[in-house]
Amino acid sequence: MTTSSSRTTFTTPQRKTTSMCQHQPPCPSADSTDREAAQLVAHHPEQGWSLLCNGVLLFEDTGELLPDGQVIAPHRPLGTPRVTAAA
Ligand SMILES: [Zn+2]
Repeated sequence: MTTSSSRTTFTTPQRKTTSMCQHQPPCPSADSTDREAAQLVAHHPEQGWSLLCNGVLLFEDTGELLPDGQVIAPHRPLGTPRVTAAA
């Protein structure tokens, strides 16, 4: 006798972290070289970090922490104040 189970359990073994983006055009993914172009979803200048839409933590010294735990070393010279463009 065959037990036909039509129910498929929808479980993804790998957690996708970039599915929350609702921007148009969509933000670059965390593994893209263009990842810093993603929209800011949280900005904490007093703590020195920002959270991008793709899950990347962007630190004040331009270091980055990717959602998969990978650390990107700061890649801009320190001492240069970043100019935030006021719209
Ligand atoms: Zn986005």
